[in-house]
Amino acid sequence: MTTTHRVFNFSAGPAVLPLAVLEEIQRDMLALPAAGMSILEISHRSPAFESILAQAEADIRTLGPIPSNYKVLFLQGGASMQFSMVPMNLLTPGATADYIDSGSWAEKAIKEAKKVGTVTVAATTKGENYARVPRQAELTLTPGAAYVHMTSNNTIEGTEYKELPAVGDVPLVNDTSSDMFSRPLDVAKHALIYSGAQKNMGPAGVTVVIVREDMLARSQKSMPAMLNYAVHAEHGSMYNTPPVFAVYALGLVMRWLIAQGGLAAIATVNERKAAKLYAEIDRTGFYRGTAHADCRSLMNVTFRLAAEALEKTFITESTAAGLDGLKGHRSVGGMRASIYNAFPEHGVDALVAFMREFERTHG
Ligand code: PMP
Repeated sequence: MTTTHRVFNFSAGPAVLPLAVLEEIQRDMLALPAAGMSILEISHRSPAFESILAQAEADIRTLGPIPSNYKVLFLQGGASMQFSMVPMNLLTPGATADYIDSGSWAEKAIKEAKKVGTVTVAATTKGENYARVPRQAELTLTPGAAYVHMTSNNTIEGTEYKELPAVGDVPLVNDTSSDMFSRPLDVAKHALIYSGAQKNMGPAGVTVVIVREDMLARSQKSMPAMLNYAVHAEHGSMYNTPPVFAVYALGLVMRWLIAQGGLAAIATVNERKAAKLYAEIDRTGFYRGTAHADCRSLMNVTFRLAAEALEKTFITESTAAGLDGLKGHRSVGGMRASIYNAFPEHGVDALVAFMREFERTHG
């Protein structure tokens, strides 16, 4: 259907979306079936959009699965807004919040939380350039803390938790922006999960928050309504105009994910894709993976070459070969291949082939 040439998009986010979803958006762009108008024009109070939002929530609940005592919210402001909303709602006066500093995004979350209340850094691997996530034995947890905040996948450094940290009865808050729904997650072990959509869930513009209902009692009525989880929950994410297009597209991605077989099935594909890349990185020593082997991310594969000049050549030549977005985050350099759910396996194969050839000609 599409005649446009699509490159392999390794961007960390916004990122590649399933082709089938893009084609459906294209097909229905002028008029949604039964609505007679496009998703860009429709009232958020229309029955057609209300059912789109309800279906998106239902599909998220199926995929999770999300227990019935959790609310699913569609918010704006990105995951960065959650860096503020989490402490504003959950950091009760006089209490401390424990933060695990596992990467650059965790560090930003800490910086924002400190503006709101008392924060303890339970552990940090900053001294090791965040090449691994902190181990359980390294955590100094505050008894009776308001919550523990973690980042399940560190997008910039390419590390991830293989298992959730044990935090006892303290509510666990997890920034899952870059690994949401790429593998099964135990929602019931969390008090709150948040995720900017623009990696694994859809386009930019919507942030999914999954919050256990008892947490909502902490949101003070004096808070600005737009920053208050309880207000958004009470209004079913329709307190004000939600990001209509982003919710619609996210819904289509959730449908696609269900059709792929759900989280366990997509995790198998993701493991296979990542294993191919790490195997190539480890093959001779020409490439060097930056993350410790036991916490390598399945979503963001980070690696370096012996010299920065060679890395520059790698980026130039890979871009020319139709492998786009492999430049590492500007704060760390090197290369990063983001291979989210919708990234096709044959794109990984193409990168592996390119890496071999690059090593042959530059090694
Ligand atoms: N947390 C993580 C783990 C991220 O990867 C990102 C964005 N790359 C953010 C937070 C910030 O997200 P946003 O741009 O949606 O505010």
